[in-house]
Amino acid sequence: MNPEVLLSRIRVVLCRPSHPGNIGAAARAMKTMGLSRLYLVEPKQFPDPEADTRATGAVDVLANARVVGSLGEALAGASFAVALSARQRDIGPVLGAPRETVARLMAEAAEGEVALVFGNETVGLSNEEILHCQAAVTIPTNPDFSSLNLGSAVQVLCYECRMTAFAGQPPAAQVATPFASPAATNDEVEGLYAHLEHVMTETGFFNPEQPGRLLPKLRRLFGRVRLERDEINILRGILASTQVRTGHGRKG
Ligand code: SAH
Repeated sequence: MNPEVLLSRIRVVLCRPSHPGNIGAAARAMKTMGLSRLYLVEPKQFPDPEADTRATGAVDVLANARVVGSLGEALAGASFAVALSARQRDIGPVLGAPRETVARLMAEAAEGEVALVFGNETVGLSNEEILHCQAAVTIPTNPDFSSLNLGSAVQVLCYECRMTAFAGQPPAAQVATPFASPAATNDEVEGLYAHLEHVMTETGFFNPEQPGRLLPKLRRLFGRVRLERDEINILRGILASTQVRTGHGRKG
């Protein structure tokens, strides 16, 4: 199934979040990974400017967030829910690892709606909330310091969802290469070699009667980099400037 469709079937449910900033951070974490459906169960403060600030470009996720009165309402229509918990509770499903559990979640998403359920910043999920879920996950951490920030926990799980939806190979964002110009063509590179040989002959650095291995070595040097058109123009500009100074004029 189309990965984007799978990701669109995942609800991120925050139970009783106290800090609007964390709601914004969760929205941002979701959008970066292609998730969009945020449910807020009795948020202490929402909407809130702090949530908008922390969401930065993900304010649309906040604008579309559903505020509900209970976890039951947030899970209406969903067939599989995963509780996120920093510690094992006496009650509720045994805590699994994120990757394996997300694999199950995504398999369920192929059939219908699913949810990731996160707890309050101070007290986590209540037993009652955990018992609404069919699986539970703990993010492996430093055993002495196991509680992630709510937004960070959302990020880790959304990342795992994206990786699984795209079978481990999500497309990378377009990386801007500000100085890049088109790759030089073979004839442009040959033009550079000819120009170089010409100038080296003029300056006496290269003796065509006794060529040795200079030309193949220079080819090997330039062959190691993938020359761009702009770079060829710069190098040939430098060569031409030496020709102007020595009165030979540009050739080749
Ligand atoms: N003090 C709380 C932790 C609250 S952190 C407790 O001990 O439960 C807020 C929420 O982030 C948690 O309810 C959980 O949903 C998620 N979270 C934080 N750290 C986590 C971890 N290591 N594994 C899984 N979820 C985690």
